[in-house]
Amino acid sequence: MKTIGLLGGMSWESTQTYYRLINQGVQKALGGLHSARIVLDSIDFQELADLQAADDWAGATALLVNAAGRVAAAGADCVLICTNTMHKVAPAIEAAVDLPLLHIADAAGEVLAAQGITTIGLLGTAFTMEQDFYRERLRSGFGIATRVPEAADRATVHRIIYEELCQGRVLDASRLEYQRIIDALAASGAEAVVLGCTEIGLLVQQEHSAVRLLDTTAVHAAKAVDFALAC
Ligand code: GLU
Repeated sequence: MKTIGLLGGMSWESTQTYYRLINQGVQKALGGLHSARIVLDSIDFQELADLQAADDWAGATALLVNAAGRVAAAGADCVLICTNTMHKVAPAIEAAVDLPLLHIADAAGEVLAAQGITTIGLLGTAFTMEQDFYRERLRSGFGIATRVPEAADRATVHRIIYEELCQGRVLDASRLEYQRIIDALAASGAEAVVLGCTEIGLLVQQEHSAVRLLDTTAVHAAKAVDFALAC
């Protein structure tokens, strides 16, 4: 079995989901007492959030490139960035370490393409919803078009991620907001809604929505398991 390298702590609320899902996936495949071989570098999320808020992407890149170097030195065979947002700096990480980077948008795109979906609604941080690095990867890699919520709703989605979900607060009122925004995305033509932030699955699961949802944490973790178990 190969060793999975995780860049985590973004936030730790979702890193613990990665840790559980990857171990469950390996245990299910191999049985018995099997569990995943994992090297985790978990950063202090306040440091990163401050850099994001200051638009200091060079600083944020350095933080994650250093973390990737540590998981490589510790023996990882691949690297996962355990957040959608920080895939903004994925090319710099790929250039800095000699390890395959399992990209979260590829994990999502592969599943969506297999389901024949060509138009999605995207929920995530403002960075993920409004910038190109994520939507363009889905478009060029998988032919998938992306719809995002209107500006006021994007602000709501972003605020709930940082002020609640990344701090372990899961509120019914916020779930109602997300359900309303998911329904609006479906009404605008989205065939499925991508939960493109690794904490959203803590708030909204498929049972909360008639619209098809894709949880990026789950598909990313599954990609890591496949990698670790491939010969
Ligand atoms: N975990 C979140 C994501 O998937 C947001 C945290 C971050 O800014 O990295 O985008």
